[in-house]
This record gives sequence, C-alpha cells and structure tokens, in this order.
Amino acid sequence: MRSSDQPTVVLPGRVRMPLLGFGTWQASGESAYDAVRTALAAGYRHIDTATMYGNEKEVGRALRDSGLHRDDVFVTTKIPSDGVGRERHVLEASLAALDTGHVDLWLVHWPPAAPGDSVRMWRQVLKARDDGLTRAAGVSNYSTAQLDELIQATAEAPAVNQIRWGPPLYDARRHAEHRDRGIVLEGYSPFKTTDLTDPVLTRIAEAHGVTPAQVVLRWHIDHGIVVIPKSVTPARIRSNADIFGFALTPEERDMVDALAGQGRGETATVPTDVIA
Ligand code: NDP
Repeated sequence: MRSSDQPTVVLPGRVRMPLLGFGTWQASGESAYDAVRTALAAGYRHIDTATMYGNEKEVGRALRDSGLHRDDVFVTTKIPSDGVGRERHVLEASLAALDTGHVDLWLVHWPPAAPGDSVRMWRQVLKARDDGLTRAAGVSNYSTAQLDELIQATAEAPAVNQIRWGPPLYDARRHAEHRDRGIVLEGYSPFKTTDLTDPVLTRIAEAHGVTPAQVVLRWHIDHGIVVIPKSVTPARIRSNADIFGFALTPEERDMVDALAGQGRGETATVPTDVIA
C-alpha cells in the first residue's frame, strides 16, 4: 500500500491527515521501535504517540530508520493536562525525543480541570501552531460543551477531537456535533471497545473474506472517522492496515451502527491510557 492510496481528511491549513493511523500506547522500548518500523513498512503513514506513553524516542528512531521522508508521515503527540504553564517546554521535549522540528498534530490529552486552564492551554497550543512547531492543533477526550468553551474563547475550533470510539459507542449525534463545528472526530481503542466475536461483525467479515477487526476499522473509515489501532504483533499490524481492498455496503454500515449501546461501550470520563 502506498501512502497516496490512503484516504485522508483535510484539516485547517490544508494539512492532510490519513484516516488510518497507528496507535502506540502500551508499546515501549524496543517493542515500540519494532512495532513502528513494522507499521511503516506495512504502509501506515500516521503514528499516534503522547508524552505520557514514554515512547517518543523510539517512535522518532523508527521513523528515522524507516528511510521515509519526514513529510510523508503524519505524527501526532499529546500534552498531558498537568502541563499547564509549561506547554512550550513539554512540546520542545517531545520534538527533541521524536527528533523532528515539528509534529503534524499536537493534542491536549484530556481537559485540564481547573477553571480557566482549558482555555489557557488551548491558547498555547494555538501559539505553537502559529510558531510552526505543530501543523495542526487539537484536543482529546473533550465533550461538546468543552469544545464550545474553547471556540467561544478563541474563535478557533480544535482541528481534531480524539475520543474513545467503536461500534458500541457509535453516536450519530455526537459525530454530527463535531462535523457541525468543523472538527474531525478521531477514534481511539477501536478493539478494546468492541466484542470482536459479535455475530454481526463475524457475518460481515465472512461476506468480505476479512476479519471482524478489519470490519471495525473499515467501518470507521467509511464514516470518515480517523482510527488508530494499536498492535505489537506483526501479523496484526499488517492485517489492520489491509483495509482498503473492500468497503461496507450501506446496509452493512447500518448493521454495525446498530451495535451502539451494546457490550463494552462505556464513555470514558478520564482517558484510559492515563489511568491504566
Ligand atoms: P486498541 O483498541 O487499538 O486495541 C489494542 C489491543 O488490541 C492490543 O491488546 C492488541 O494486541 C489487540 N489487537 C490489535 N490488533 C488486533 C486484531 N487484529 N485482532 C485482535 N486483537 C488485536 O486499543 P488502544 O487503547 O491501544 O487504542 C489505540 C490507540 O489509541 C492507542 O495505542 C493510543 O495511541 C490511542 N489512545 C488514546 C487515548 C487518549 O486518551 N487520547 C486513550 C487510549 C488510546 P497486541 O498489541 O498484542 O497485538
């Protein structure tokens, strides 16, 4: 798969973000390095990391050793909300670890709790974008009301909101609330939210000669939602990227939508990658 074959969504500033990315939470050390190398070789052109994951150094080394041009890979990292007041320092540490002059997307990892801090941090993220240290600015784990607080204060909507998402969490209204504000919805934990033995997913998978995991990923893409599966298992890394040779019919997409409210679909109030 070539990067040019992959569907992308365009963020403000004409920044192209591949709809498929590679998650790296709980991958560390050489395992993170190997996983990212395998992912880049398998065709992923979008890597998701965070200050909290402690693997930016390995991600950066894998990127460099891949031989790919930096501009051909979309890199996201995130600032923890306790970085309020130290934003530039945190970003500079990320850039040094990743060994890059800029990231493509910098996210506030979860909303700072103290009154005023969310807007304060958002202004700093926008400033980093204006200074060229990140090409796009976004947030993660924000409710619609929390997004609106930022928009009202700064007249600038986050380019992206990265939230827990999967068939059991499907919520057409929440998706529309993002679309209406020009915010791209990026889903995390596509598998952890989903029962991959569900008969609906299994039936659709059999019809296309793919796995239920591939159906879940393709379902995100068909909705125009960014998805960032994580794996450290080479065969899974490759099969999770092999989702562009089929598409769901409108009826199949509706059947997956109808899994909403079932299974493990709890909406996270705190990010799962931080509390674990
Ligand atoms: P995922 O839903 O991506 O699930 C990862 C788990 O699924 C791992 O145990 C992996 O195992 C397994 N797996 C991977 N591929 C398959 C497959 N084809 N079939 C069956 N099992 C499979 O969970 P994550 O929570 O990691 O979410 C993805 C990414 O989203 C994270 O890595 C991180 O980058 C981001 N994230 C962001 C958060 C935020 O607050 N902003 C919170 C949580 C995640 P193995 O690795 O052993 O192959």
